[in-house]
Amino acid sequence: MAEQQQPDLLNGNTTKKREDYLEWPEYFMAVAFLSAQRSKDPSSQVGACIVNQENKIVGIGYNGMPNGCDDDLLPWSRSADSRLNTKYPYVCHAELNAIMNKNSADVKGCTMYVALFPCNECAKLIIQAGLKEIVYLSDKYHDTLEMTASRRLLSMAGIPYSFTRISLKPAKEPSGAFLCGRMRECLATCIAELL
Ligand SMILES: [Zn+2]
Repeated sequence: MAEQQQPDLLNGNTTKKREDYLEWPEYFMAVAFLSAQRSKDPSSQVGACIVNQENKIVGIGYNGMPNGCDDDLLPWSRSADSRLNTKYPYVCHAELNAIMNKNSADVKGCTMYVALFPCNECAKLIIQAGLKEIVYLSDKYHDTLEMTASRRLLSMAGIPYSFTRISLKPAKEPSGAFLCGRMRECLATCIAELL
């Protein structure tokens, strides 16, 4: 009886499933990095991907100017005579956009995959939106006031954050090369810039 429940054996079919597929965290982080490529920010491209408890993507975002605000007229510089002439007062972070772009009623209990560890302003949004976990790849601003405040808030709110990396190794077989060619180069460049 047991053998009859295994049609592959009955048919003599020995084809096995692929082994070098992307694991879920790698996949969602790669989606975050792909969306970062939409960013027009010349110095920092960050993407975020929100995933529900069924491993379904419910929101994606990248850093950019607010809707309806002409990104040819607003400043993109990191420093200027006045902070008003830098990008900082205007840009919407990837986390904010991912939450606002959600295609579900809410993002309660979801996990956010984000390239850069979230700043304190995004930590507030993440907490208020009810997200339950953060997975990030780079923490290069770890020692800044914003990140220190962010960790304090997230810890108090009981939201764990963990580091993950994405593999850029070539796939074993050409047919399995999801991270291939331009995609791999593109991801390698943005990861190198973030780390
Ligand atoms: Zn932020």
